[in-house]
Amino acid sequence: MADSRDYYDVLGVNKSASDDEIKKAYRRLARKYHPDLNKDNPKAAEEKFKEVNEAYHVLSDADKRAQYDQLGHDAFTQAASGGGAGYGGFGQGGFGGFGGQGGFGGFDMGDIFDMFTGGGRRRSNGPEQGADLRYDMEITLREAATGIKKKFTVPKNDTCTHCHGTGAEPGSSVETCPDCHGTGQQRVVRNGPFGQMVNIITCQHCQGSGKIIRNKCSECRGTGTIRVKKTIEVNIPAGADTGVRMRVSGEGEPGKRGGPKGDLYVYIYVKDDPDFERDGDDLYKSVDITFPVAALGSTIKVKTLDKEVELKIPAGTQSGTRFRIIGEGMPHLQSSRKGNLYVEVKVTVPKRLKEEQKEALLNYAHLMGEDCAQYKGKSSWLDKIIDKFK
Ligand SMILES: [Zn+2]
Ligand SMILES: [Zn+2]
Repeated sequence: MADSRDYYDVLGVNKSASDDEIKKAYRRLARKYHPDLNKDNPKAAEEKFKEVNEAYHVLSDADKRAQYDQLGHDAFTQAASGGGAGYGGFGQGGFGGFGGQGGFGGFDMGDIFDMFTGGGRRRSNGPEQGADLRYDMEITLREAATGIKKKFTVPKNDTCTHCHGTGAEPGSSVETCPDCHGTGQQRVVRNGPFGQMVNIITCQHCQGSGKIIRNKCSECRGTGTIRVKKTIEVNIPAGADTGVRMRVSGEGEPGKRGGPKGDLYVYIYVKDDPDFERDGDDLYKSVDITFPVAALGSTIKVKTLDKEVELKIPAGTQSGTRFRIIGEGMPHLQSSRKGNLYVEVKVTVPKRLKEEQKEALLNYAHLMGEDCAQYKGKSSWLDKIIDKFK
């Protein structure tokens, strides 16, 4: 505490400040420097917070304040830290660690925060629903198209089968907690900085259960829950898409104090497919066709998700033309409707040509009035140069 400041300066009040002024100043500063409200610089706020608390601790106590005024800051703090009679464990042991011995008597951060924010921490000891669980499941596009039954294993807490969740060895008795008479709560009256406060806290003896187990269950050691690997089966409906969430009722963690179990949520992720792109219920794919097919027209075979269909390509089809095959998309979730399959054709250029094919193309070029004569001949030196520069 070598570099500690005068307590009046810390609180920003003058030496003649009334108790009320000190209280107000403290309240304002404690809120300002509360570490929970200073997430961007919690370390610095914590230091300030401790300093403010230390100052208030002394100045709010008439005897200590008188002593402080008499001795002055340095002498007082030295006496306090050396003698051990005053406040003890400020600032040691990290944040929240002060308060045990001296005047502070069990005044903790949580309480301060609760006071300023109007509570927020639940101290209910009634039945509490168990936590929900989440399981992320990846399926293929084809599985999504047909719908599928999937089994998977979830590690989770479950009600102990040996004691059925009571935590007591079968046959042994469970007694009502003598401290709280079964309510699970205790009233604690505290003389805090803002006057007397009555806090309702969870009973320390029974941890809020209201019961005392003399003979703990040998399987779960009295917790009432055991760790299990549970196999769950879900029916993923046809048409499921990424983001679809399925609830498996009652497969979450067990509830507390007789509360219901939580639920298990299965989140669906549909993997990318090498052949199809999906947009809602519609599917998209591209198919290569040759120049003669595009120019002359033909019927080609197109693979859908589950079969092969024929697609008529009209004469004069341009590369990039999109055709629609009705009803060959994905099924609509929870209805009999189906999306469409859109096929985009790409006209490809052959990389290698046989001599006859070359002849035929040159002939075609000639008929179109194009001069491709320089390419004529068997693999000339010019061909090689062109290949090299490609
Ligand atoms: Zn048990
Ligand atoms: Zn109790």
